[in-house]
Amino acid sequence: MIGFTLTEAQMAAQKKAREFAEKHMKPYVRELDRMPSPHFDWKIVDRFASAGYTSFFIPKEYGGGGVDSLTMAIACEEMSVVCAGICSVLGATMLAANCLKAGGTSEQKNKYLSFLAEKKGRLGALAITEPNAGSDLGAVSTIARKDKDSYVINGLKSYISNAGVADLYIVVATTDPAKKYAGLDFFIVPADTPGLSAGKIEDKLGLRASQTGAVILDNVRVPADNLVGKPGTGFLVAMQALDLSRPIMSVNAIGIARAAYEAALEYTRKRVQFGKPLFNNQAVAFALADMATAIDAARLLTWRACCLLDSGQEFTKEASMAKLFSSEAAVEICSKAMHLMGAVGYTRDLPVEKFFRDAKAMTILEGTSEIQRRIIAQEL
Ligand SMILES: Cc1cc2nc3c(=O)[nH]c(=O)nc-3n(C[C@H](O)[C@H](O)[C@H](O)COP(=O)(O)OP(=O)(O)OC[C@H]3O[C@@H](n4cnc5c(N)ncnc54)[C@H](O)[C@@H]3O)c2cc1C
Repeated sequence: MIGFTLTEAQMAAQKKAREFAEKHMKPYVRELDRMPSPHFDWKIVDRFASAGYTSFFIPKEYGGGGVDSLTMAIACEEMSVVCAGICSVLGATMLAANCLKAGGTSEQKNKYLSFLAEKKGRLGALAITEPNAGSDLGAVSTIARKDKDSYVINGLKSYISNAGVADLYIVVATTDPAKKYAGLDFFIVPADTPGLSAGKIEDKLGLRASQTGAVILDNVRVPADNLVGKPGTGFLVAMQALDLSRPIMSVNAIGIARAAYEAALEYTRKRVQFGKPLFNNQAVAFALADMATAIDAARLLTWRACCLLDSGQEFTKEASMAKLFSSEAAVEICSKAMHLMGAVGYTRDLPVEKFFRDAKAMTILEGTSEIQRRIIAQEL
């Protein structure tokens, strides 16, 4: 059954998220973006937590909001219109939770999803990338050696969202490098575990309201029970967790694109050149028509992936299509929006240059566009 009418609950979630973003995010966006180095703000996390957003992706049985992925996508789009950087703090937590949802035992879900759902506003991080293992998960060299009832983990993770601020890290490591993908496993590492520390925090182009950096694992000892699910399932769990997160990555890109498009639409209606508003030139109006069309197409692809996921059907290909299309469209739309606004669009007086910087990250994180194409091609 295909339907495009939102339910009352979805419309309420959309309205609540829009109002929340206007009231609790917007006042801080400019300031956080302009800090000399990427700056994370606990004040906003507290507000997210009070509104239930730090746990709304965690099932109700573990104390979370238990919303379906379509409702989540609808709400996250509204927040990303205001600031995708702030949203990526939540996105990283959701990714860690998704790893537990995908692969965790019932004991692990009970203990750690409930921990992430605590009202205090817990943050999570999923640590996969390493200096020599980016798109290629099989190159992970962080090693986990079994020692009686524990694993001892050593290695370096890079470009990890929420590095240094997460309460809980879910870290992928190899227990046997010779086994490549089959030797990979995820380990649950609470932030206060001795030997775990944050390294260099990156000075990023965009998403500056979130902290992305290195995570150092120096003889980190965790109980053997902290291996997520069954030994040797790390690769599968990573793929499933990333699949679950892609529709939300996709709406983050849609939110950025929508913000840029709306700014360009408003500007070109007001700005007069050659005696008429810019919008009254067909070339300008057609550019905006293309932008509006791409945003709708991206949203429809994303909602389809969400509907498949929520109804328990296969959605891997559709989630990658949505993420690929939305993130590439966001970069193009932000570039076009900036162009339509001329010189002022290129300055920091207006937010379009920020949208442009934020959009580019969407084509890189949680699998680059080429990795999405690989997944789609494999599924064809
Ligand atoms: C803002 C931000 C937040 C991030 N947060 C996290 C996080 O929370 N956790 C985490 O683990 N990681 C995180 N990352 C890292 C991210 O997942 C990686 O950057 C990404 O997977 C790509 O890896 P890489 O940067 O090493 O690029 P590489 O893998 O070195 O790729 C470089 C280029 O080569 C292309 N390429 C690679 N292989 C192929 C191929 N087979 N065919 C064609 N092209 C190819 C890529 O598409 C890319 O364009 C984050 C990154 C950013 C920018």
